[in-house]
Amino acid sequence: MISTFSLRRLAFHQHIPLVAILSLLTTPVWSQSASEAIPAEAQKAVAAVRPEAIRAHMRFLADDALEGRKPGTRGYKLAANYVIAQFEALGLQPAGDNNTYLQRVPLRRWQVRETGSSLAIRRKTGTQNLKLGTNYILSPNLNKAVSDVDAPVIFVGYGVTAPELGYDDYRGIDVRGKIVAYFNGAPTSFPSNPRAYYTSSKPENAVAHGAVGVISFSLPNDVRMRMEAAAPRARQGVYRWTDADGKPQRTFPELAGVASLGDSTARTLFAGATRTFEDAVTAAHKNTPQAFPLTCSVQMHTETESGGDIAGYNVVGVLPGTDPTLKHEYVVYVSHLDHLGIGRPVKGDSIYNGAHDNASGVAINLEAARLYASLPQKPRRSILFVGVTGEEMGLLGSDYFASNPTVPKDKIVANLCLDMPFFFHPLIDIVPYGAEHSSLAREVNTAANFLGVKVSKDPMPEQTVFMRSDHFSFVRQGIPAIYIKSGTQTGNPNLDGLKLNLDWRATIYHSPQDEIDQPFDFNAAAKHVQLQFLIGYLTAQNAARPVWNKGDFFGTKFGSQPATKQ
Ligand SMILES: [Zn+2]
Repeated sequence: MISTFSLRRLAFHQHIPLVAILSLLTTPVWSQSASEAIPAEAQKAVAAVRPEAIRAHMRFLADDALEGRKPGTRGYKLAANYVIAQFEALGLQPAGDNNTYLQRVPLRRWQVRETGSSLAIRRKTGTQNLKLGTNYILSPNLNKAVSDVDAPVIFVGYGVTAPELGYDDYRGIDVRGKIVAYFNGAPTSFPSNPRAYYTSSKPENAVAHGAVGVISFSLPNDVRMRMEAAAPRARQGVYRWTDADGKPQRTFPELAGVASLGDSTARTLFAGATRTFEDAVTAAHKNTPQAFPLTCSVQMHTETESGGDIAGYNVVGVLPGTDPTLKHEYVVYVSHLDHLGIGRPVKGDSIYNGAHDNASGVAINLEAARLYASLPQKPRRSILFVGVTGEEMGLLGSDYFASNPTVPKDKIVANLCLDMPFFFHPLIDIVPYGAEHSSLAREVNTAANFLGVKVSKDPMPEQTVFMRSDHFSFVRQGIPAIYIKSGTQTGNPNLDGLKLNLDWRATIYHSPQDEIDQPFDFNAAAKHVQLQFLIGYLTAQNAARPVWNKGDFFGTKFGSQPATKQ
């Protein structure tokens, strides 16, 4: 799963007018008994799940020998070869480029050249030169090696325009040719998904309003973007996939400078303005739209070096469907195969093994593929299994695949994604992210019902989980998706599942300690396999393809694909 930091740096470039009504979760009522809904042969396949197979896949993929599976490394190649070998052994057919199991994903890295770059706050009284890495960081310009901007600054609150929620920071202010400055995040009064969406789609909103530069900073109580943590991450550079002409995707040529400021530096920006930094903070906490000019100009000079191109690879295999018509449609399973590689040592270990993130998701999908392969009669629709690269770099492999699929895009009917589903306790309940958006809720409920697993609400909406893994790349292409995480019930009154999860996120997530020797519950992992298998199987068998719910936030924004009638 990517960090919220990376999520903010993902640049979405859809400019779709928003007329969306947020739909509430509706749970269909079933007349059929749970087991009647599942054919006998699928029940048999479900019963044959092997927890030890999941452990074995994870043990190999998270071994130190794979060196953290960073894209472009030998370790990643070994991981990809392992998955290909499993696909081949299961009888899945190649579905990548040129009748191979691999889809090549061209990745390029951009980084700010610190020595030449600068940012200065200019006032009538003088110019204040700031220190890169201490007071501010700059984002590399993906379109120009050297870019300059020098313009007055207008503060625009959260920098959010959400007409369907009656919120617009830009109302009544002209920012054309100006630099806009805003707080990270979005109003806490927004529901979780729109809040996450608007948090990560601010650059295009600034561009849509005619801004030429962007400056962002955190609210004082938001510790996630502190300069001490952000500066070293910024030095790792930014990756994007490039198209056939070598052009990077999801960039904003209109923005000549993009900076993040540290807390004390952000305060100095407000000196002499009609309202103070504290006034702005208060209004933001009250979720009140706001905008006012600051009394300074900012000059940004960004020098960017690019290079270190990486040949990333997605791994793609297909189980062909058996219905003469429906076999041309696909249910796509995705899990990211990459992790962070070798990095800063923690407790004497520098290999970021990513056992949970996301050897676990790959292992579960491999075991689900084995259940499919064991069926005497294969499903009506085809089942595509994709191990994607570059997730940790910003969902790059999945975005590449969803943008340039190796099967016709309009024939992809659903996506099922797994990324560190969290199996450190028995699986009593699940949180099926995405189920409230589409008809896939029906397949999710049928599968959960059959397996005796409860369906729960998101216990941590502030983590904006629905936008933080590869299924979101499919959602952006209008494809309904499901992303299942374990719920917080543990079956043990002395074990708080939510606390366990949050503690894991705080201590192990994205550290070298995410290793195979953690107290995983492989029976819970096996239940995830059964869920993945059944949801996909039911979707593949259903004569009607999944559809977005009427008026759904994401369906309205992205769902343009032709949907067959239910
Ligand atoms: Zn991750």
